[in-house]
Amino acid sequence: MEKNETEKDNKCPVCGSELNEVEETPTGKKLQRCSKGSWNPETRKTEGCEYVKWFTPEPEKLDEKCPKCGNHLVMATTRSGKKLKKCSTAGWDREARKATGCDYIEWFNGTKEELDEKCPKCGEKLILFTTAKGKKMKKCSTSGWDREARKATGCDYIEWINERSKGNGDEKFPAYET
Ligand SMILES: [Zn+2]
Ligand SMILES: [Zn+2]
Ligand SMILES: [Zn+2]
Repeated sequence: MEKNETEKDNKCPVCGSELNEVEETPTGKKLQRCSKGSWNPETRKTEGCEYVKWFTPEPEKLDEKCPKCGNHLVMATTRSGKKLKKCSTAGWDREARKATGCDYIEWFNGTKEELDEKCPKCGEKLILFTTAKGKKMKKCSTSGWDREARKATGCDYIEWINERSKGNGDEKFPAYET
């Protein structure tokens, strides 16, 4: 029961060695170390292979790639209920008290949906973007944000979708009727 289904991915992705048995940290988290690595409490360092597999509740894997390292992004929720996307390689080394892996984070404040429409500016696909407040807009799929340069990249086409658009003759619809 313990060792058949899991055996396939019981190999270290870093060096290909077997993984050790699952161990439990004092805080009740489970992890599996590479058999070629071990924690030295004296130096407070991992010796040998540093791969550690943490057993955390499966984060929602997204169909998006990390723009920094190309790994999958996962959805995470903060204690205050805010959603964010982070790189699946990101982790937290409790012993060293620092972040490990890729540090890419994207605060999630809406949903994205690919549209069957073409951007009038560049001809690429448009994406329907719904913000956390329920506002909708169409954005070009090539648009992005360069965090280092702090500026927008790609095509800047944006089309806000006003469900109660003003001045288009829509006023006749009782939008505020209760
Ligand atoms: Zn290893
Ligand atoms: Zn990454
Ligand atoms: Zn465009």
